[in-house]
Amino acid sequence: TSVPAVDDRLVERLRDAVHGEIVRPRDPGYDLARRVYNAMHDKRPALVVRAADAGDVVATVGLAREEGLPLAVRGGSHSVAGYGTCDDGVVLDLGGMRGIRVDPDARTARVEGGATWADVNHATHAFGLATTGGIVSTTGVGGLTTGGGMGHLSRRCGLACDNLESVDLVTADGSLLTCTPERNADLLWAVRGGGGNFGVVTSFSFRLHPVADILGGATFYPLDTEVLRRYRELVADSSENLGSVLVVGLGPPVPFLPAHWHGRPLCGVVTCFSGPGEEDDEIRARLAALGPILGQHVDRIPYPVVNTLFDELVPAGLFHYWKGSFTRGLPDGALETFAEYGATTPSVQSVTVVFPLDGACHRVAPQDTAFSFRDADYSVALSPTLATAEDCEAHKPWVRAFHRALEPHSLGGGYVNFMDGDDQDRVAANYRDNHARLTALKRRYDPGNLFRLNHNIAP
Ligand code: FAD
Repeated sequence: TSVPAVDDRLVERLRDAVHGEIVRPRDPGYDLARRVYNAMHDKRPALVVRAADAGDVVATVGLAREEGLPLAVRGGSHSVAGYGTCDDGVVLDLGGMRGIRVDPDARTARVEGGATWADVNHATHAFGLATTGGIVSTTGVGGLTTGGGMGHLSRRCGLACDNLESVDLVTADGSLLTCTPERNADLLWAVRGGGGNFGVVTSFSFRLHPVADILGGATFYPLDTEVLRRYRELVADSSENLGSVLVVGLGPPVPFLPAHWHGRPLCGVVTCFSGPGEEDDEIRARLAALGPILGQHVDRIPYPVVNTLFDELVPAGLFHYWKGSFTRGLPDGALETFAEYGATTPSVQSVTVVFPLDGACHRVAPQDTAFSFRDADYSVALSPTLATAEDCEAHKPWVRAFHRALEPHSLGGGYVNFMDGDDQDRVAANYRDNHARLTALKRRYDPGNLFRLNHNIAP
């Protein structure tokens, strides 16, 4: 397929201005450079710019703005909606900007805009420190944090965006703005949940917490609403040091699960207990009390390891179509829906993941960050993941029906990072009372909607 070429003179001008590599359709590395995590998005950009530093970001944003080219900003490339790529436009790939500087005394980390959570966890673990990131280590810091960011430490430490102390942001007019609670505070507020709508974050500064080894791993149970109810009780009356996600789907082919459970419907709890080791036995006893254990692998492990447990199950190149919901508590109707749809899960990779969002996430007021669902106790990701595009298309009705069945038990809206591209009409509902302020800021900082390949806040 041919891609309209960007004028050679423009590319030469950009080459003079950037340090990083520029990849065009005729270059040998093009097919690799255009690829994103979700294989449903097979796009052909005119240029991929692999930025080396903030200067490259300024130059690329400037070219896209001046030439009126579509601009896709890519961090870890995990956007389920495929916003890290585009047809005929410019992809600004931050994947080469992954430097991290930890200040163990101040307990902060400066993280470049294209780092993954594997990079952050590795760098901070050396000092016995961590911050909330995603549960799959290959996910990018950029998209996850700017959308909110939930993971194993959210109950104890808040969302990823709650730990954000400052950012360096390249805005649509090409300015590089340092955003802190004192300077450009409105933009810091906006990127704490407002996604990539306000510019390109070239550097994030995160607050860190003492987290070194944790009691972590997976425990599998029969898919039974009684188990799900007991999980709900466990979250409601356990310490915030107990991070966990509930998973509903098919038994994965792991050695600690008997083979006859592989591919059969079940549920599981992936735990990350970051409290003192003396309490481990109590946590193990509580996991045993949830129901008959089909298979378990739970041990004291380094915190970064618990964030790799799903990595092998969901490598890049599979075909995804997702939906997200927020719930208050886990109403019985939601649990029954999990059990019903869990039983017809289309593949082992199609895990429904339920993230508890209480504790520290509730101690931030809804208007204090762009992320507004501070009354949600859980965020649900419905994430069908298939081996072919045809299979993924064929299962879209399944996930839509699952999502519709959950709606009566949900708070409305849905986490932008778990939404797909056909959820643009749900963006305003996701920001609730913050949407008007976000729109006003968008009008001020990006009136031409240069940053529109995202869950868009239109100016
Ligand atoms: P990209 O595709 O690179 O970018 C996504 C969006 O963010 C784009 O609109 C992009 O323009 C913007 N963006 C990226 N980097 C920057 C930047 N530096 N500055 C400004 N804008 C930027 N979410 C959770 O909260 N918790 C989880 O545990 C979790 N697990 C996941 C596991 C998998 C396998 C997948 C596929 C997704 C998961 N998510 C999770 C959702 C995830 O937060 C989103 O997919 C997120 O968009 C990924 O960010 P990225 O940088 O990898 O993606």
